[in-house]
Amino acid sequence: MKNEKEITLRGKNIPNPIQYFTDYNFPDYVMAEIRRQGYEAPTPIQAQGWPISLQGRDFVGIAQTGSGKTLGYILPAIVHINHQPYLERGDGPIALILAPTRELAQQILTVAQDFGSSSKIRSTCVFGGAPKGPQIRDLERGVEICIATPGRLIDFLEAGKTNLRRCTYLVLDEADRMLDMGFEPQIRKIVEQIRPDRQTLMWSATWPKEIVDVCQEMEKDTKLRQLLEEIMAEKESKIIVFAETKRKVDDLTRRMRREG
Ligand code: ADP
Ligand code: MG
Repeated sequence: MKNEKEITLRGKNIPNPIQYFTDYNFPDYVMAEIRRQGYEAPTPIQAQGWPISLQGRDFVGIAQTGSGKTLGYILPAIVHINHQPYLERGDGPIALILAPTRELAQQILTVAQDFGSSSKIRSTCVFGGAPKGPQIRDLERGVEICIATPGRLIDFLEAGKTNLRRCTYLVLDEADRMLDMGFEPQIRKIVEQIRPDRQTLMWSATWPKEIVDVCQEMEKDTKLRQLLEEIMAEKESKIIVFAETKRKVDDLTRRMRREG
């Protein structure tokens, strides 16, 4: 099935994908909504992503637009929330979903409400360019799921309108786009406030190149050289290269000297 659906996996002890919605014991109201939506089977990213995220593991999920990534993290969020103690007065959200734009945040909210609202799970979205009042009221009333664009969320955190002390499930949706749009400092600022043992899920239609470039061993030298050339072409650039062994460090140093 992995081959048939063209799934590529990296990581240790990865659980097998599920094939049918009934392969996992989702709550009845989730199954009812799946039927109402007329979904016949999990999409590949859901089939493989659910077993991983339901184990509470961190996960980077990359799949093309339209492949059902939203439900890929909303269903495990619902299960995660069901396993947590109820929110108390003054508690912030349990699941935080960061998204780059208002439109996307609102689309995600629809999915969260479709699948969560028949249970006790409340969700809201906060984004810039709209009045703060109603958003603050939702947050103060208490929501298990908060979907946010980074800037507005920081405003609310700084003003003490919400907090991330209960947050144990963090999603970065369209992580690639958020980085392209220059949200990295804001994302860092938000993530710093979330307990380090949270579960983190990143979703993207393309691999976010700003963070990491995974490649084959034999490609490394060429890639490193290209990268060094690009960075050195910028003004006042300084670079630190880490390697696993002393020997590799010596090799690299020698080659860099030789090639000037
Ligand atoms: P992505 O975020 O990967 O671009 P979305 O989460 O926006 O994709 O989903 C795209 C469409 O696929 C939505 O209309 C959604 O309702 C639908 N969808 C999600 N899961 C399934 C499924 N298992 N079967 C059929 N359609 C699905
Ligand atoms: Mg999406």
